[in-house]
Amino acid sequence: MTALPLVFDAPRRTKPPRHLADLTRQDARAAVAELGHPAFRADQLARHFYAGVTDPARMTDVPAAARADLAEALLPGLLTPVRHLEADGGRTRKTLWRLHDGALVESVLMRYPDRATVCISSQAGCGMACPFCATGQSGLTRNLSAAEIIGQAVAAAAAMTGGEIAGGPGRLSNVVFMGMGEPLANYARVRKTLDALVTPAPYGLGLSQRSVTVSTVGLVPAIRKLTEEGLQATLAVSLHAPDDELRDTLVPINTRWKVAEVLAAADDYARRTGRRYSIEYALIRNVNDQPFRADLLGRLLAQRLAHVNLIPLNPTPGSKWDASPLPAQREFVARLRAAGVPTTVRDTRGSDIDGACGQLAATDRVDGVPTVATAVPGVEEGVPLGAESDRT
Ligand code: SAH
Repeated sequence: MTALPLVFDAPRRTKPPRHLADLTRQDARAAVAELGHPAFRADQLARHFYAGVTDPARMTDVPAAARADLAEALLPGLLTPVRHLEADGGRTRKTLWRLHDGALVESVLMRYPDRATVCISSQAGCGMACPFCATGQSGLTRNLSAAEIIGQAVAAAAAMTGGEIAGGPGRLSNVVFMGMGEPLANYARVRKTLDALVTPAPYGLGLSQRSVTVSTVGLVPAIRKLTEEGLQATLAVSLHAPDDELRDTLVPINTRWKVAEVLAAADDYARRTGRRYSIEYALIRNVNDQPFRADLLGRLLAQRLAHVNLIPLNPTPGSKWDASPLPAQREFVARLRAAGVPTTVRDTRGSDIDGACGQLAATDRVDGVPTVATAVPGVEEGVPLGAESDRT
């Protein structure tokens, strides 16, 4: 495995067309007025957009003659679904999206008995180069616009209300920035997205701030900036090692901001919000899963307002690494809990459709065999879907 360079500045590509979700309410109203329509039509368009209505013909409160004009100008289709892959009896669904310039991203919707969570992408690819992560190994293509990020959550909310996910109609309750990309490396757009997620209709999805989680490799200045915003969003830090020596190799950004600095920034975030942050830790066999590292992590976190979320490593193609065996996992959990650190083990929802943490690569080909692959009618362009029925 070759080490990739860290990339902070996304390559400049052609910008996606202007979209209402990139604009403030004021700017959206001004844009509508400029097109010669009453400003309040912006609110109507916003309500349709956040409700997942994409067909102008269904925007019946807008005069028929104005619909196409307004929708074209302010609600261009930015995310084209290429295909859906389903797992867990239809309760997990991964969607591959094509963007206006051909870039590909993925989002994953997971329904649980008590909630429905969508995992969204903030960048096409990622520049953080973590060697165990499929996205990290693909490099950074570009930042997503706010509307491209928001659109993934809107589509998930619509899939829930529309009854597209097994279990009948429901409501999207949680959003996690754990898809492709490093959200804090695309700060301004992610910040706008946070607003849209929690703003009530018509200009947002009206989710609670606490049910939104921003996950980061640990870009310290950006964590501090986020702290200043005074939000209640949950912060997750991808630690993966308690010691700098190992973390330098697993999360290369550690060469710039060390474990102590990242945790100090997260502590300040927790103080500001009064809420625990999450420490993400992918357990990798014989790499970071030793009992002494569990003890080290326990000592590091015992006095902190933190919770540990252990993720059995989802192996990625070509990786020499594997998940920790169950006994090692159990020992790790026991040692952390003995140190007084609240610890949970994340389920690996969607791992059989490469939809689990760190598996999102968004190549337009299927390497593995999906459980169920659904081509999106009219969009699938001869993309091989693998042996769909072989493993169901
Ligand atoms: N860039 C952000 C968010 C995206 S990744 C971050 O790093 O936090 C979401 C989580 O999945 C991170 O904790 C990441 O380290 C973890 N992850 C990446 N690859 C993984 C893999 N192969 N197995 C398990 N977790 C992985």
